[in-house]
Amino acid sequence: MIYLDYSATTPPSKKVLDNYLEFNEKHFANPNSTHELGILVKEEIEKSTKEIYKLLGAENYEAIYTSGATEANNLALKGYAFANAFKGKHIIASPYEHSSVTTCLNYLSDKGFIIDVLDVDDFGLVDINELESLINEDTILVSIALVNSELGILQDFEAIKKVLKKHKNVAFHSDLTQAIGKLNVDLSGIDLATFSGHKIYGLKGIGALLRKRHIHLEPVIHGGKSTSIFRGGTPPAPLINSLSTALKEAYNDFPNKLSHIEYINKYLRESLSEIKNTHINYESGIPQILNVSFLDIEASKLHELLSEKGIYVSTQTACNSESSFSLTVKKLTNSDELAKTSIRISLSHLTKKEEIDLLIKTIKEILHENH
Ligand code: PMP
Repeated sequence: MIYLDYSATTPPSKKVLDNYLEFNEKHFANPNSTHELGILVKEEIEKSTKEIYKLLGAENYEAIYTSGATEANNLALKGYAFANAFKGKHIIASPYEHSSVTTCLNYLSDKGFIIDVLDVDDFGLVDINELESLINEDTILVSIALVNSELGILQDFEAIKKVLKKHKNVAFHSDLTQAIGKLNVDLSGIDLATFSGHKIYGLKGIGALLRKRHIHLEPVIHGGKSTSIFRGGTPPAPLINSLSTALKEAYNDFPNKLSHIEYINKYLRESLSEIKNTHINYESGIPQILNVSFLDIEASKLHELLSEKGIYVSTQTACNSESSFSLTVKKLTNSDELAKTSIRISLSHLTKKEEIDLLIKTIKEILHENH
């Protein structure tokens, strides 16, 4: 098996799995219980939370634990919009958001909020002048992901934050799901940040919303004592512990992991240049994501044939994969052909050069057989 779909999900690390098992055995009590066993679990959650704050420089935030980034984005957007609707109803977003953001925004639009989607330049970067000019007295929220999951576009947060600094009444939400663990993230200027365990070699079923402490939210899930008044339910202590373990591991030996990925990315690009009619859809993305079109074959077909041979990549993102037409690629390149034939290859520090060799060899064979 060759797994090259690390942006869809990552395999949990051995340490995460071992710790999870051990933690579950040792700390199974309900952290809401007031007996000694429960108190111990509550203390463990506090330890994990402190560790997460330290690793992300998030001491000024509250970590609200959720089932993943989808729920965290729902809470950030709907929670913020409903709690602050009395101040205004205007929200601005980038066009490269994950469906858990866009679907919430569509829902909010149905509920009477006004959503503006920013234009982007040739590099996929949001138009800063437009952002500045769209902000008005009714604007309450701006939502822009730092890294887009399909093309790996890294937005210019310095420029965005510079604009937002002038508008203290406008909150800034950023979906950091594809950024945390892949690069060093500076949270300053972000009021609501979301991420997910299973993208950082952690477990599925846990994510978090980091809420700047002055930001008020309307809960989406009510009831059941939790670590936060903004999200009900018994805190999943073992999963919270697994999130801090995964985060710690992700940033352990980080420069070496990153330079390995950069090396593999370069090697992949060089190898792809041996194949006729390929087009890299985005040149300046993060090294973990490479979106490439093989013009001689439809993406869904190539994806299927690779999968039959045990090679796993993705067409679009895993969350949006019913059709192989990529709206994101279309938006950036304005080409239906590129959008129909694009594949996302996502890399990891675990990716080996030999895996890239086999990927390239297999693609060449498939293209030859389907000529
Ligand atoms: N945002 C982005 C950018 C993502 O890539 C994903 C996962 N595909 C999500 C949100 C949703 O994360 P989760 O699977 O934890 O709900």
